[in-house]
Amino acid sequence: MKDLKELNRSELIDEFEKAGFPSYRGEQVFNWLYKNGVSAVEEMKNIPKKMRQFIDENYELSDLKEINRSTAVDGTVKYLWELNDGENIEGVYLPFPKSGRHSTCISTQVGCGLGCSFCATGIDGLQRNLTTGEIVDQVIKIQKDISGSNFAEPRLSNVVFMGMGEPLANFDNLMKAVEIINADQGLNIGMRKMTISTAGLVPEIKKLARTNDQIGLAVSLHAPNDRLRNKIMPINKKYNLNQLLTAVIKYIEKTGRRVTFEYVLMDSVNDSPELSVQLAELLRGINCHVNLIPANPVPELGIERPVQKVIDSFYETLDRNGIQVTLRKEMGTQIDAACGQLKRNKN
Ligand code: SF4
Repeated sequence: MKDLKELNRSELIDEFEKAGFPSYRGEQVFNWLYKNGVSAVEEMKNIPKKMRQFIDENYELSDLKEINRSTAVDGTVKYLWELNDGENIEGVYLPFPKSGRHSTCISTQVGCGLGCSFCATGIDGLQRNLTTGEIVDQVIKIQKDISGSNFAEPRLSNVVFMGMGEPLANFDNLMKAVEIINADQGLNIGMRKMTISTAGLVPEIKKLARTNDQIGLAVSLHAPNDRLRNKIMPINKKYNLNQLLTAVIKYIEKTGRRVTFEYVLMDSVNDSPELSVQLAELLRGINCHVNLIPANPVPELGIERPVQKVIDSFYETLDRNGIQVTLRKEMGTQIDAACGQLKRNKN
């Protein structure tokens, strides 16, 4: 059966029109799903019984089942959900009381096929892509959790596709989810408030630039030279730093948006003073921002966080060289909020 959450607004309207229902009924269903966050057809109160029956007989509704959650003292919540086929994914809610932002970081795949040496998600490889409905449902579940069943305040303001998986490896499902999350008759989260993260899939970065959407791009860089990047991020052997940065520069030209480079600082892996100088040189002149993230320890992969002196010195070198840089405030470290860790702890 087709999942209702696979359909964007115009597809929903078409679908029901073809079945003989007036177009406003499709709009009403869209509103129920994304303005009210209902998870069952019976809850769509102004939809006639005959149409609800039709929906029940012909469609299913993605519905993630929460099987675990951890809440940190800073308000970060990490969710573990079960999908219909028994696979697990995770998502995180991050409140920023000072700026009033309510952000969420969600998954796009079960597992990941890119095998970065420092990443817990990649350990078991890729199981499968998430469907559009499963991607969108994570946002709905978190919105419902923070606002209660009235689905009103607070509203989620930002969505970051940086949970489990490589978002651009699931391009079509991701972009349809983006369209649904963005629709002003529904969740209404602006394109500029969404960010897609990538480990460096060059053809898809180019494709994303061609969509002309104003969506943010974050590139997981983690190394400033091919030798080290090949070692810790195998995708670099396919698309090296030169190819990656060329695509990123084109993305910036096309969208006019500043790109973020994520750099997870790992003890004795990529945190030396030489590498900080190399990174500053590599990014000089690019309209970008570097987000330094001290690693959360991943014991089974031997990943440790550098001592504070090393972190500060790496930051200062970038700053001194004119690179816009921030040191990510650690949110949720006590709940294992690094990619893939909650799921692994459950297994
Ligand atoms: S860091 Fe990202 S791209 Fe690399 S294996 Fe983990 S989830 Fe995949």
